[in-house]
Amino acid sequence: MQNTYKAEPYRIKMIEPIRETTRTERETLLANAGYNPFSLRSEDVYIDLLTDSGTGAMSQAQWAALMMGDEAYAGSRSFYRLERVVKAITGYAYFIPAHQGRGAEQVLLPRLVHKDGMVFLSNMHFDTTRAHVELAGARAIDCVVDICFETAKEAPFKGNFDLTKVTHQIEEKGPDKIAGIIMTLTNNSAGGQPVSMENLRAVSALGRHYDIPLIIDGARYAENAYFVKCREKGYADRTMREIVREAFDLADIFLMSAKKDGLCNIGGLIAIKEDRKLFDTCRTHLVPLEGFPTYGGLTGRDMEALAVGLEEALEEDYLAHRFDQVRYLGDRLIAAGVPIQRPVGGHAVFVDCRAFAPHIPYDQFPGQSVVNALYLEAGVRAVEIGSFLLGRDPDTGENLQSPLEFMRLTIPRRTYTYRHLDVVADAIIAIHAKRTELVGLTFEYEPPVLRHFTARLRPITP
Ligand SMILES: *Cc1c(COP(=O)(O)O)cnc(C)c1O
Repeated sequence: MQNTYKAEPYRIKMIEPIRETTRTERETLLANAGYNPFSLRSEDVYIDLLTDSGTGAMSQAQWAALMMGDEAYAGSRSFYRLERVVKAITGYAYFIPAHQGRGAEQVLLPRLVHKDGMVFLSNMHFDTTRAHVELAGARAIDCVVDICFETAKEAPFKGNFDLTKVTHQIEEKGPDKIAGIIMTLTNNSAGGQPVSMENLRAVSALGRHYDIPLIIDGARYAENAYFVKCREKGYADRTMREIVREAFDLADIFLMSAKKDGLCNIGGLIAIKEDRKLFDTCRTHLVPLEGFPTYGGLTGRDMEALAVGLEEALEEDYLAHRFDQVRYLGDRLIAAGVPIQRPVGGHAVFVDCRAFAPHIPYDQFPGQSVVNALYLEAGVRAVEIGSFLLGRDPDTGENLQSPLEFMRLTIPRRTYTYRHLDVVADAIIAIHAKRTELVGLTFEYEPPVLRHFTARLRPITP
């Protein structure tokens, strides 16, 4: 590691004004939103850390590339440009564009399910990935290492597969029942925790031994490779291109939401190493689901911006700065005694709200209570990843208890400055100082599925 950037490795050419509100205004706005920040208008949010998906800033090179978009229905020049970039990065033979990650999942995953009773094994399935696995009639089983659930314990690769768990699943179910192994890079649901190359190599060997395809769900594959470079022995002097290529060589299929490490506001892709039959059947399904094979739900200009973004996301200056921003926010919270998942992941800081507000029971949603307090304190929008998100047991109707109650502070790429992060840290530290005043929440309206997006809540006043 040569440089530690203390300032952003870019200067600002275009600005988007954001608006501060008063605490009184925010009290009304949050009550009107049913104590669920998903229902706030973005204009009423000062600093928006809801997600890093599609919320980053494009570079001047990307904005310039937009003008080069070829909007032909078939055979677009922009498709061929993007295809060249994807093939050069992955080394794979086949490329299919999609409108975003879940579009790519919808096209690919059902093609791997050949019979009843099949399962996918993953370190951790992302929620849309899990949904597409289940819609395809298969089941999704997570095999992440247990240390991932111990938020205070430091380890370099908390996103890894537990090799004993995955081997056990393969042997118990039978290799012919395993539709695929999904390696999520970085492990989003575990807080953006990385997977080591050693672990990827071991999982790849298992897949080859049992003839099971290995799929990289690589929305944040560049961030994962940068963790490997910084933390894994033998990778410090390797280029980003070499590291990502080594990872792709170990897998068979690459699925990507380009709204993350594609540095775009929309986009997704599938790349397939060598299975021509799989490529043909995916392309056949692509047409009714996403669009003709040379646009797959994207405009020509989207494909141009993505071709540039994929290359920029592998630049070390950019990655060093991104990691430094996330670490900076994490370090400020740690210094003030705020409990967070450690070490911080690649794209977000996760505040451990069970430790933050232990007096709030899981079915009164401690994470959501802290999220709401943060909005009231400073107009900062975060998101709950815990029992509120998890929902109810479909059989008993009981609230399920999440093993972790998180508030996720997701950092959009190239969007906010260190000063913005100071505002976030100051506000959380202030709430932490008066955390005993936090109260739980109960439902006023609860939709039957994916309740966290549209539910309305009410604070339980003592
Ligand atoms: C975001 C994400 C997806 C889904 O992608 P969308 O672009 O949101 O549809 C799938 N897998 C992982 C790991 C993700 O982070």
